[in-house]
Amino acid sequence: MIENPQIAIIGSGPSGIYTAQFLLKKIPDCKIDILERLPTLYGLVQYGVAPDHQSAKAITRQFDRLFENKSVHFFGGVEVGNAIHLEELKKLYDIVIIASGLYGDRRLGIQGENLPGVLPSGRLTRWLNGYPNEELKPLLVGPHLVIIGNGNVAIDVARLMAKTDQDLINSTMDLTRHALLGGGKVKTIDIIGRGLPEGCKSDPLILRELANIPYVHLTVEGNLTPDNEDSFPQIVKNRLKVLREINNMGKPNAPCQISIRFQLKPIEIIGDNSVKAVIFHDQNKNIREISASAVVTAIGFCDAPDTVISRDRFRIKNEGELSYNLGENLYSVGWFRKGPTGTISENRVDAKEVVEIIFRDLEQSLKNKAKEKKGLASEELEKLLKARRVHWFDFEQKEEMSPNKSQNTLC
Ligand SMILES: Cc1cc2nc3c(=O)[nH]c(=O)nc-3n(C[C@H](O)[C@H](O)[C@H](O)COP(=O)(O)OP(=O)(O)OC[C@H]3O[C@@H](n4cnc5c(N)ncnc54)[C@H](O)[C@@H]3O)c2cc1C
Repeated sequence: MIENPQIAIIGSGPSGIYTAQFLLKKIPDCKIDILERLPTLYGLVQYGVAPDHQSAKAITRQFDRLFENKSVHFFGGVEVGNAIHLEELKKLYDIVIIASGLYGDRRLGIQGENLPGVLPSGRLTRWLNGYPNEELKPLLVGPHLVIIGNGNVAIDVARLMAKTDQDLINSTMDLTRHALLGGGKVKTIDIIGRGLPEGCKSDPLILRELANIPYVHLTVEGNLTPDNEDSFPQIVKNRLKVLREINNMGKPNAPCQISIRFQLKPIEIIGDNSVKAVIFHDQNKNIREISASAVVTAIGFCDAPDTVISRDRFRIKNEGELSYNLGENLYSVGWFRKGPTGTISENRVDAKEVVEIIFRDLEQSLKNKAKEKKGLASEELEKLLKARRVHWFDFEQKEEMSPNKSQNTLC
C-alpha cells in the first residue's frame, strides 16, 4: 500500500464530499484535494435542490465538517480540463476521482425548442438558486406555464413558480430573479408526462406539497384506477393513491390552476417571437394543442455542451453506468458514474463503494508501485495554477463566495 496516498477529487457535490469522508475513514493517512469548477461548494445541493427545501440543503453543514481535517484542501474555481488537464492530475496524484456530475439539460429534440420562452429546468433552477455562472434572459413566464416532464424537478419548478415572494421569504430563493420571471403570478400550470400515471416518478411527498399550496386548485387527468393495480409494486400503488387524493384539491376558483396530465407526447412547440402553444400526440395519436406563454423542459440531464470532462468519453457501447475504475489510477462516482438519477443520500452509497474499490486496488495492483513524486501534490498543483495565473478559492473564502454574495448575471 502506498503510504500517505495523495488523492484528487474532481467536483465538490455530494458524491465528491461523501467520497472524501469515506477515504479519510478507510485510509486515515491520505491527503485529499478537491477541485471544483465553481468558486462555491456542494454542486447541486446549492444549485439544484429547490431553495424552499432548506432541510435538504442543511446537509451542507455536515459537509463543512470535512474541511476541519487538515489533510483536505479545497481548490474552488479550478475547472479540470481547463485550468489543469486530467492527464496532468493523474501524473501529480496517486488517485484521481471524477465526481463532476451532469449539468446539461436533456433536449426534447422537437421543432420550436429554441424559441424564446422555452426554459430548460436545470438552467432555470440554477438561476433561481443564484448560480454564479448562469445567464438567463429575464423573461416573464406569463399566465400559462407548460412543464414537460413529471419527475421531482418538474414538480419543484411548478411549486416555485406557483409560490409568491411572500411564501419564499424564508427560503434561499433569489427573489429578484423570481420576480423577473413573474413567479407567483402564473395563473395556469400544466405538468405533462408521456407515460401512464403508474409510471409517474415524482415523490408522493412533493406532490402533496404542491397540492397543499393554499391558493392552488389541482387536478389530475388520466386513468388513476388501472385494472391491474394490484399487480404493481407498493411504491407505485402509493403514488397512485396520492394522485387520487390530490385530484381536485383546493378551491375550483383558486387563482392558480395546476393540472397534471399523462400520456401526452410533445411533437412541436409553436410560436413566432415567443412560445404560443405546445402540440402533443395523445395515446391515440390525436393532436392536442395546449396554449402556453412559457415552456419548461424537465426531462433529465446529460453532458453539458461546454463540459470538459465528457461522460460519453468513458462509456462503453452506450451502457448507462460507468465502471468505478476507469483505468489506471482513475475512478468515477456519483451522477457522473451512474447517470443523472438518485437523491443526495444515494451518492453516499456510491461513494462508499468506490472507496472500497480504491482501497482494494491500492492494496493490490498499486502495491510496490509508489509513484515518482516531485513532492506534495497540493504544492505542485498550486505552483502549476500560479504559473497559469489561475486564481483559486479556498474553504475559508466560502462565505465570501456563497450564492447570495455572488454577482447575478443577466443578459
Ligand atoms: C433540480 C434538481 C433538484 C434536486 N433536488 C433534490 C432534493 O431535493 N433532494 C435530493 O436528495 N436530491 C435532489 N437532487 C439530486 C441531487 O442533487 C444529486 O443526487 C446530487 O447532487 C448528485 O451529486 P454529484 O456530486 O454526483 O453531482 P453534483 O451535485 O452535480 O456535483 C458535481 C460537482 O462537480 C463540479 N464540476 C463539474 N465539472 C467539473 C470540472 N471539469 N472540474 C471541476 N469541477 C467540476 C460541479 O460544478 C459540481 O459542483 C436534485 C437534482 C436536481 C438536478
